Amino acid sequence: MDRIKLHDKFFRPFIPNDRIESAIDAVAEKVNLDFEGCEDIPVVICTLTGAIMFTSELLKRLRFQCEVSCIKLSSYQGTRSTGTVLTMLGLTGDVKGRRVIICEDIVDTGNTILALQEMLLAQGAAEVRICTLLLKPDVYDKDVKLDYVAMEIPNAFIVGFGLDYDELGRQYKDIYVLDQ
Ligand code: 5GP
Repeated sequence: MDRIKLHDKFFRPFIPNDRIESAIDAVAEKVNLDFEGCEDIPVVICTLTGAIMFTSELLKRLRFQCEVSCIKLSSYQGTRSTGTVLTMLGLTGDVKGRRVIICEDIVDTGNTILALQEMLLAQGAAEVRICTLLLKPDVYDKDVKLDYVAMEIPNAFIVGFGLDYDELGRQYKDIYVLDQ
């Protein structure tokens, strides 16, 4: 793995794809443990655009029937959280009375996940669970329970595996960190 340049910044290799895949195997097993054999049809919600790769990898491993919807929220500009969560694209399906599994790329301050959980409960979701590929535990300061966390990372800005720096870098299969 080599250093990459996106816009004006350099990023160095951080988490190779095989480690990401193993972490997804493990987190998918936890989701299966809770949902396999369920009689309802839960809705998996992919938070665009960052969670596209994680959601597709997770879905391949799930052993229960589910529907898939998407939503696009935004709180980040460049490499920083703005603290304000905006809805860029509304939910593509109905969650009334349904159990929902939010599929998130990364939980940082938790503002996005908190806003999304409140929105889904307000729309009548029966239960909201959160499944995230990455968590920055040093920054996360909300009370929302994170049901399934694949990997924890220190407070650094990362790209790859769906995550971007100003829309670039999403296509890499490995994760890279900002090289200061
Ligand atoms: P939060 O609302 O928890 O502060 O931030 C969550 C969102 O901010 C994520 O869904 C993601 O879009 C973005 N984000 C947070 N940390 C990073 C990071 O290290 N790299 C990238 N590319 N996006 C991040």
